[in-house]
Amino acid sequence: DLVLAFETSCDETSVAVIENGNRILSNIVATQIKSHQRFGGVVPEVASRHHIEQITGCIGDALREADVSYDELTSVAVTYGPGLVGALLIGVTAAKAVAWAHNLPLVPVNHLAGHIYAARLVEPIEFPAMALVVSGGHTELVYMPEENQFQIIGETRDDAAGEAYDKIGRVLGINYPAGKPVDELAHKGQDTFHFPRAMDADDNFDFSFSGLKSAFINTVHHADQINEKLSREDLAASFQQAVVDVLADKTNRALKEFPVKQLILAGGVAANQGLRERLTKEVAAFADTKLELVPLSLCGDNAAMIGAAGEMLYRHGVRGDATLNADPGLEFDWLADEAK
Ligand code: ATP
Ligand code: MG
Ligand code: FE
Repeated sequence: DLVLAFETSCDETSVAVIENGNRILSNIVATQIKSHQRFGGVVPEVASRHHIEQITGCIGDALREADVSYDELTSVAVTYGPGLVGALLIGVTAAKAVAWAHNLPLVPVNHLAGHIYAARLVEPIEFPAMALVVSGGHTELVYMPEENQFQIIGETRDDAAGEAYDKIGRVLGINYPAGKPVDELAHKGQDTFHFPRAMDADDNFDFSFSGLKSAFINTVHHADQINEKLSREDLAASFQQAVVDVLADKTNRALKEFPVKQLILAGGVAANQGLRERLTKEVAAFADTKLELVPLSLCGDNAAMIGAAGEMLYRHGVRGDATLNADPGLEFDWLADEAK
């Protein structure tokens, strides 16, 4: 079974070849970060243009590196949402063209299902499972009773965790995407500011990071006004501690209410060292639950994860046709409905 997978939902153009849903034969990722940095974030029009320029070369590279020809492929998988509409459309159009030209089944994939299913590129996912998906646009706790069943039990009410990292990074003079540099800075400092942990004590699994972001920005601006010099390391450490505390506490509570065999940490922010260390300790207290940390190389956007989810969806009979469109606001639990 060989899937040719496409991912173009944001600022990475990626094409991969995945064997049997769990083995990476190739995973080409062309990042556009440099083109967006001078604007301080992703510019949708710039992203679309880059995807158009890169996609054909990426397909050729992915097939060449995997040493696979079109007639050996089993299916074509593509991210069709959520994401930037103009960016998604490039991948969807390319995938439809390849599927049509080579008479291959087309499998539409939810980008967040892809982030979660990246875990199976390391080890098979055992159900019931739970995923903490933390990325640039999402912060969600997803309960998965069985394969291809996704129930959102908690999500952010405002900013996503990655978005908060990028915004406070800017205040520290760190360019987009700020997650990794802030993570590194945090390891050199102490939690001296004790920023608020919003909703931490609430009896639900939802998150909120905009209050933390505002508290951070106000602290820095106030210090600027009175000409006080604050430690960037301590600011970063205090911010990170607040984010990690809330993510870990809510996940802990979710694991108590929904006992699972695996907890999967996925999405761009899953690369965070502080979060990985803390969840390792947290999950150790659950004797029957294993922690699956998506490897650093597969936390950010990539097509390998789309191929991993695509193979699973293909087995469940999910198909797209020539009318498949990009769905920028795609809801996550469409898959649960689809499976019924
Ligand atoms: P979504 O997946 O929700 O559609 P996205 O695809 O844009 O959004 P990803 O590419 O999955 O998001 O993740 C990018 C985010 O991860 C950025 O906000 C970036 O700052 C953050 N990030 C990357 N590395 C780290 C890290 N070590 N610590 C914290 N955040 C990080
Ligand atoms: Mg990205
Ligand atoms: Fe993503």
